[in-house]
Amino acid sequence: MSDLLTVRDLSVAYGSGAPAVKRVSFTVGEGAVVALLGANGAGKSSIMKAIAGLTPASGTVMFGAEDLAALPARTRVARGIVYVPEGREIVGDLTVRENLILGGYQKAAAERKQRMAMVLDLFPEIAEKADRQAWRLSGGEQQMLAIGRGLVANPRLLLLDEPSLGLAPLLVRRVFDRLAVIRRETDLAIVLVEQNLAVTMRLCDDLHFLRGGRIVGQRSAAELKDKAARQEAIDAYLGAA
Ligand code: ATP
Repeated sequence: MSDLLTVRDLSVAYGSGAPAVKRVSFTVGEGAVVALLGANGAGKSSIMKAIAGLTPASGTVMFGAEDLAALPARTRVARGIVYVPEGREIVGDLTVRENLILGGYQKAAAERKQRMAMVLDLFPEIAEKADRQAWRLSGGEQQMLAIGRGLVANPRLLLLDEPSLGLAPLLVRRVFDRLAVIRRETDLAIVLVEQNLAVTMRLCDDLHFLRGGRIVGQRSAAELKDKAARQEAIDAYLGAA
């Protein structure tokens, strides 16, 4: 499997304080799902925003053979790097369909239409409400809409920031089941930020644990199938900072 994304020595600093991300390195293969886990403030969202071109960073981010340093966020979207932010940020006053159209703003009408049909097929819950204003949706439906909007852009790499945040366990499972379907049916690669190890393991290949802006541990999902190994990783990496 060749690498789609290569992150090398990535650092992010806001103002004069300690850097939020400190020389982080990892790779994501074509079609692979890589998770970044860690407590609030560990630097996960900052890494995602740096890859998407939404915050200044130092170090190297390569997409295939291309160095992204000089590319603004919108060009990265055109290349196939799509960020689905934490907190969803859908436009409440617009309808579900209009929110999806926004996701495909860089696409030709025919492709956008085809992608929207695919998304509505994948998420029947929101298809039923396509002409309703987005603020009327439940939390889980809003999360599906946010992911769906990202998928309309036809990404090769989806940056998914805490899709489980604020959702009841049943809805979390539903959202992750859909992500598993996308995984099975396409060669989409995903970087997934999560605090929830159990759901993360269902989807991803490799997990990187972050603390204080650094990667402090790595495991494969296969390694963590063993209960004792899973507990050991939780104690070592997800316990008190
Ligand atoms: P969370 O799950 O809470 O979003 P996180 O692991 O994604 O946590 P980041 O959001 O990347 O962490 O934040 C890392 C550090 O950088 C934190 O100390 C945070 O306060 C700080 N930070 C994040 N964004 C900014 C910003 N725009 N300006 C200043 N500091 C910021």
